[in-house]
Amino acid sequence: MTAETDSERPPRSILKALITGVTTRQRGRGDDAPVDDQAQPTSRRSLLRAGGAGVAVGVVGGVAGIVAGDGLSAAEALPETPVSAAGVPSLGPWRPRPAHVDVSWAVDTTQKLVALTFDDGPMPNWTPMVHDILDDARIPATFFLIGRRVVRHARLIHGRMDRHAVGNHTWAHADMSRMSHAEAYRALSRAHAAITEVTGKEPAILRPPLGNIGGTTLSAAGKMGYHVVLWSLKMREAALRHPAGRLVDYIVDSCEPGTILLAHDTGHRDRLVSIRGLPAMIRGLRAKGFEFVTVPELLEATGSAPPDA
Ligand SMILES: [Zn+2]
Repeated sequence: MTAETDSERPPRSILKALITGVTTRQRGRGDDAPVDDQAQPTSRRSLLRAGGAGVAVGVVGGVAGIVAGDGLSAAEALPETPVSAAGVPSLGPWRPRPAHVDVSWAVDTTQKLVALTFDDGPMPNWTPMVHDILDDARIPATFFLIGRRVVRHARLIHGRMDRHAVGNHTWAHADMSRMSHAEAYRALSRAHAAITEVTGKEPAILRPPLGNIGGTTLSAAGKMGYHVVLWSLKMREAALRHPAGRLVDYIVDSCEPGTILLAHDTGHRDRLVSIRGLPAMIRGLRAKGFEFVTVPELLEATGSAPPDA
């Protein structure tokens, strides 16, 4: 995905609500063009480490990963800014409430339930196509939306989200694992306001961009009352693009009860193979007895429902 130009301005009413209180530094980072979400599979060796400071992590269903931050040096970092993904900063007695965050990348269930998820939209290129496919199949999905794109492209999803669930994919798709708690909270709260305003649905789930999780990702998620949702299976467009049908077979063969499948409704055109294959994947999974549910429905299916936002 090429860098997105940001020439259009959101409607003033929403803009006013969203940018109030944003510092220069936050605006400079947060409004950087979203990076491509060539989502890295989370390393099973880099175990989730919620570094002290009062964050307990309830891990559901597998192993969450951290990509250690390699950004700001200690000298460059503001006092409250973590230099790695692992630390929750604290300049004194401080504790996010609730002091507990659930992280799920799949759900332990024997029911043949699968949740399709689409990240990074809404964007004009593929989002309407994805909605058409889901409408034709009459199945729900979960869209992890980028806040500023929701504002800019509100018309793309207007009236089309009734069946679907929304998730927060931050305001501008910056790497949360390198943010301070305040930056992470801002990235979430701005997107939360935009998604709620435009879709009429209040998100209660977060997918951090790239799947990168730091301590401040969790502390900000906890403050928002979010359940962090990763994935257990993803479209492997680059590897399985040829021959035709190979990606479809891979997805249909790989889905298990409780799978959360990562896809994108925008991005580099190489990813289009997954959208084109979507109807066949849906047919194939249905033929195997799978039922499509939203992520919140999937989490509820095992009693691990997201907390009320
Ligand atoms: Zn993304």
